[in-house]
Amino acid sequence: MQCRGEALDYRVILTAAATAAAGCARITPAVRLLLNGHILHKRDKGDSCLDAAKFWKQVVDGLLPEYVPTASVPRGRPSGKPLPNRLSERHFPATYDNKKYKPDCEVCSDRSKGRHQCNTYCKQCELPMHAIGCFEQYHTLRDFRK
Ligand SMILES: [Zn+2]
Ligand SMILES: [Zn+2]
Repeated sequence: MQCRGEALDYRVILTAAATAAAGCARITPAVRLLLNGHILHKRDKGDSCLDAAKFWKQVVDGLLPEYVPTASVPRGRPSGKPLPNRLSERHFPATYDNKKYKPDCEVCSDRSKGRHQCNTYCKQCELPMHAIGCFEQYHTLRDFRK
């Protein structure tokens, strides 16, 4: 049984709470919260006339929103699912208009060890780098120079 789905369906809680109050069912956290809510409500408002069933009905009807189980509040970012990594950054490879323009690759070129020139670059970083291999390395590794 899933706690989340259970907490979201107040009718299930109400039924469970009613049976739990009758002492013939296990008390789930959501039901316990409702039971406690009823006790607190009685204590705070001094409203002893409001019996458990009426209290739960009012909760279900949204009349007592402060007693709605917190488990029913969606957790995490309110905007929904976090963006996948592929959408959170926007770096795209491009080719220099001048086909003869081939600067040193920012990633794999080292004038002391060996020069590697390329005609491709990252549009956002405005740095020359090979589209295959070097581009991925530059945008995924903290220490991109191996
Ligand atoms: Zn390279
Ligand atoms: Zn980039």
